[in-house]
Amino acid sequence: MSDLQYHVDGDLVPADAATVSVRDRGFMYGDAVFETLRAYGGDVFRWDAHAERLAGSAAAISLDHGLSDDDLKRRVDETLAANDLDDAYVKLSVTRGVQPGKLTPSPDVDPTVVVQVKPLPRGGVGSGPIWDGPATLQTVKTRRIPDAALPSRAKTHNYLNGILARLELRVSDADEAVMLDGDGHLAEGATSNLFFVDEEALCTPSLDGPVLPGITRAAVLDIARDEGIPVREGAFTLDDLRGAREAFVTNTTWEVRPVATVDGIDVGGGPVTTLFQRLYDERVEAAHYGGDASPAGGADD
Ligand code: PMP
Repeated sequence: MSDLQYHVDGDLVPADAATVSVRDRGFMYGDAVFETLRAYGGDVFRWDAHAERLAGSAAAISLDHGLSDDDLKRRVDETLAANDLDDAYVKLSVTRGVQPGKLTPSPDVDPTVVVQVKPLPRGGVGSGPIWDGPATLQTVKTRRIPDAALPSRAKTHNYLNGILARLELRVSDADEAVMLDGDGHLAEGATSNLFFVDEEALCTPSLDGPVLPGITRAAVLDIARDEGIPVREGAFTLDDLRGAREAFVTNTTWEVRPVATVDGIDVGGGPVTTLFQRLYDERVEAAHYGGDASPAGGADD
């Protein structure tokens, strides 16, 4: 039994009793959008960016849910407050709701809105990262769904692409999958964006490919820009990643997580990864705890 409270369609309910209809399109078809958020000190990290991405996801699937950003934020804040949570994982989902039983969506939407939370202590180099060591990566056969099939910028409940990728990791027990696009270029992890360092720059697959515009990815690119660290966003190969000096993966819960190996080949973190961990943590510290940083770390998807 969990003591947590979730927010379901405007009501706070015990997590174990939180349900949606089996006729909900989110359940039936994955016809829903969501955000994974992280709260630090009771406040969501980069809420505006998450709200914008959620709105973009909804627009990409023509889901006119009629809810304002403020309304969504209020539900998130109420859930954090009801659970007395400062440092937390938050999942905010908006589905196309229950509609007559046919695939074609009706424009009349009565959305289902769910906020799930769980405690997620802040990591940080000072207190130790939340993830269990640097990530081992393995390239999988499952290709990232092309943008023309399902818009990559849309974060929808349809996560089977990533699930298939993660299932392939059962043999190697790697932490994260490296997914390629249809042309064989690097795309992203099942739930993370890829970064690596070569002789000249910090490199990451560009958003021209089938890559989710990660909020953490954007934060890392902001840091690079502010620090004058050269960045290359482009089309890269698996050899580029395997031959990198250092590599790391990013997402909201892991933050900046060093990569140990790619397909068994040592890549390893290094000074650039450590720098980004520290600078990311400093930004979290400054934005949420109003002070100087203790040095950085991260958790899962
Ligand atoms: N790519 C995919 C497919 C993801 O699911 C995630 C996690 N949301 C990310 C990248 C990283 O995005 P963010 O930094 O916003 O968590």
